[in-house]
Amino acid sequence: MNIKPEEITTIIKKEIEQYSKKIETVDSGTIIQIGDGIARVYGLDDCMEGELLEFPNGVYGMALNLEQDNVGCVLLGDEEGIKEGDIVKSTGKVVEVPVGEELIGRVVNPLGQPIDGKGPIKAAAYKPAERKAYGVIDRKSVNEPLQTGIKAIDSMIPIGKGQRELIIGDRQTGKTALAIDTIINQKGKDVICVYVAIGQKQSTVASIVNTLTKEGAMDYSIIVSSTASESAPMQYLSPFSGVTMAEYFMEQGKDVLIIYDDLSKHAVAYRTMSLLLRRPPGREAYPGDVFYLHSRLLERSAKLSDELGGGSITALPIIETLAGDISAYIPTNVISITDGQIFLETELFNAGQKPAVNAGISVSRVGGAAQTKAMKSITGTLRLELAQYRELSAFAQFGSDLDKESKNRLAKGARLMEVLKQDQYEPLDVEKQVVTFYTAVASLLNDIEVKDIRRFEKGLLESIDTHHKDIYEKLKDGKLTDEIKKEIESAVDEYKKEFLA
Ligand code: ATP
Ligand code: MG
Repeated sequence: MNIKPEEITTIIKKEIEQYSKKIETVDSGTIIQIGDGIARVYGLDDCMEGELLEFPNGVYGMALNLEQDNVGCVLLGDEEGIKEGDIVKSTGKVVEVPVGEELIGRVVNPLGQPIDGKGPIKAAAYKPAERKAYGVIDRKSVNEPLQTGIKAIDSMIPIGKGQRELIIGDRQTGKTALAIDTIINQKGKDVICVYVAIGQKQSTVASIVNTLTKEGAMDYSIIVSSTASESAPMQYLSPFSGVTMAEYFMEQGKDVLIIYDDLSKHAVAYRTMSLLLRRPPGREAYPGDVFYLHSRLLERSAKLSDELGGGSITALPIIETLAGDISAYIPTNVISITDGQIFLETELFNAGQKPAVNAGISVSRVGGAAQTKAMKSITGTLRLELAQYRELSAFAQFGSDLDKESKNRLAKGARLMEVLKQDQYEPLDVEKQVVTFYTAVASLLNDIEVKDIRRFEKGLLESIDTHHKDIYEKLKDGKLTDEIKKEIESAVDEYKKEFLA
């Protein structure tokens, strides 16, 4: 190549002229490598961890690796059209999401942008997606129940407001169904619900939106969706965006329920991102801080003290296991961070026991304190009866002759199992649950055929609703007294005549 010295001087002169014109205060850098949703940028000297960076074409990125001579960042958008040598500007802000009442009823992406075609959202404020959780002094112990409306859960694995209860099970065991029913049950209970879909199919999310709309539950819900087709960084961000939106309401003294569906896919997205950022892989190739990832997320659920308004965030994270293996890395991590877990089993599900909750190994470590008095008085007997039934039914399979007492116990257990079954989208009020369980544990159902139990139960609840409504009123916050027990018994006798006739 033949370049004349005067050409070089004109170029330099022009550069100097232009340079003086565009003195800006923003920190900027140049992309030195881009691909797989990850960019390495040279020259962002004052970049912060988690800072929002502006790429060409209006695409944003988040700085995650601050290295000696470059910054590794993830793109929160389409990387098409962005190439090496392009300029990246810093914004001086960390990644923020919109919060406020306007988000209720909407479906948004992890950046809080609407994706439901219902127009723009006027946010009350923007808040950082990553925030430190409230400390010990700011919190209060869990003391109010969060009713899921699911008999097997409210009775034996009660959840309190501010609790974190894990829903864990293999694929297709009804994990999402439990979460959606819980949202539907919050209708009229003044609880705002946030459903975070991570790595789900678009069709699944669409059907969830449909169901919630049909049940009138979108009026108090926000859906944050990052589907499987979205990039790993978007999936990584979504639960943090969701909890930031939830925190806004908690700080106003309101109760919020947040569902992370599911954190296994979140961990996988984080692993993908970390490997591409060349962070060192650890067990199962997850980065070393994957535990911290989920603990800092779940620690943001809280029951705030009265001084701070007494609001709460209850979290129901979901984890998918492979062949029931709860000792894998991510399941054990999340089990140790949460206040209990609800195990769903394929075997039970396939045997028709839906919801497929294994009451034997499911626990709730704090929710008991929040149960209503009436329900509390039944829980103990219920657990015991079921445990005895399980043991006895395994034994009875050998076909040996059983004594009368054992036969009775088996009959009762079979009816209890039947009472625990529940259809989707049919959450039940807690006082009605108490009545159903009482009829089963007090052996009032033993003369009803097992196959008729669910029909009987449904009819009984309706009959009480029309003729003895005061029973429900008394059970709402009162105890299950002997007097109410008698009332229930006579209502059962009354309905039995009608049912068996
Ligand atoms: P995935 O692993 O695919 O996310 P999942 O564990 O979330 O699955 P769901 O999608 O909630 O499971 O449920 C699986 C199927 O079981 C669905 O077709 C759902 O309609 C059905 N199902 C769930 N719960 C019940 C129930 N209580 N009664 C009847 N059917 C149910
Ligand atoms: Mg699911």
